[in-house]
Amino acid sequence: MDSNSKKIGIGMTSARTRQRLIDRLIKQGIINKRVLDVIEKVPRHSFVDEALSSRAYEDTALPIGFGQTISQPYIVALMTELLVSLLPESGKFNRLLEIGTGCGYQAAILSSFANEVFSIERIKPLFHKSRQNLLKAGIKNVSLRLADGNLGWNNKSPFQGIIVAAAPLKIPKDLLMQLDDGGRIIAPIGDEKDQVLVCISRKGNNFDSESICPVKFVPLIQEI
Ligand code: SAH
Repeated sequence: MDSNSKKIGIGMTSARTRQRLIDRLIKQGIINKRVLDVIEKVPRHSFVDEALSSRAYEDTALPIGFGQTISQPYIVALMTELLVSLLPESGKFNRLLEIGTGCGYQAAILSSFANEVFSIERIKPLFHKSRQNLLKAGIKNVSLRLADGNLGWNNKSPFQGIIVAAAPLKIPKDLLMQLDDGGRIIAPIGDEKDQVLVCISRKGNNFDSESICPVKFVPLIQEI
């Protein structure tokens, strides 16, 4: 048992609790074995506030401060699966980009599927907190940046996959331009009342968009 699980009480973060989450994800339709394995392994409880760690393996979004939330595990699993299904068995992406690091949990999940993950956050305390969380989890291939995610991370592009963890009204043009040929952007699009998760696939200069399901994300802030 790690010291964190001692602090919050036996069972909260146990193998059985995590297995229950995995069983629920399978019931909801997540089929990629690699994605399920990584979600089982990454300690979600150490990415949230200690007071909330007993709820870390419930399939629910949780507050991470500054009006932001860590996404529900099912949505993290679904977005990751939509990317990972592009990979050959046991293959890895070279570079992935995430917009909206938050507490760093989604970046931690992505780090298993890429040589390098780049993630951008605009709120300074979350940027620092996510760095600590990733270090604590022993993850070394995630680079973080405090900036406006609408602009992407041009000098690290192209990315084989981009996950947007906050909802824009439409996909920022810079992100489309920084996507590799054959790559995908997984993003919520819409306002607070009406949002849908989309999967955008790039073939040359064509971008095909497929709607996946209704979702509810915090807005992607437009800097002025
Ligand atoms: N993926 C995160 C959850 C992110 S919540 C996790 O696993 O915890 C969405 C995040 O997007 C918030 O932290 C918010 O501050 C950030 N965000 C919103 N607009 C942004 C922008 N324009 N640039 C960068 N980050 C942004």
